[in-house]
Amino acid sequence: MTAYDNQNIFAKILRGELPCYKVYEDDHTLAFLDIMPRSPGHTLVIPKAPARNIIDIKPDDLAHVARVSQKIALAAMTAFKAEGVMIAQFSEPAAGQEVYHLHMHVMPRNEGVALLPPATRKEDPKVLEEHTARMIAALKS
Ligand code: 5GP
Repeated sequence: MTAYDNQNIFAKILRGELPCYKVYEDDHTLAFLDIMPRSPGHTLVIPKAPARNIIDIKPDDLAHVARVSQKIALAAMTAFKAEGVMIAQFSEPAAGQEVYHLHMHVMPRNEGVALLPPATRKEDPKVLEEHTARMIAALKS
């Protein structure tokens, strides 16, 4: 498998070299909004430790990401009044991976509302700011 490349976008976000709409952070993980959401509230959960995807991540790092993904999923359902939530992780180009730092997609879902295809459009920054505030409030409640 290709080695981890520390110039990927999410590594730059982790180092503070690029901004993000942060909703949650702890010692091991960071969660922030996807800027091209497939559903309102689409959030990405990433480990702070370098990992390209599911193939090379250390099990303990994956466990932290899984715990936080559940926390984010519950908050997203509350914040976006969702009936369901979908979690997805793509590993390697054949599976649709485009950013090579492991991330869980957490996408609130409602009955009869289709997901947008990946990378359909960049969301308005004002909308992303409002969604960030909603997620932070739901995480506190
Ligand atoms: P993948 O296909 O690798 O599983 O998903 C990569 C995700 O990263 C996509 O959903 C895409 O919209 C998102 N994305 C790409 N560039 C950026 C960025 O600069 N910031 C954020 N927050 N998300 C990004």
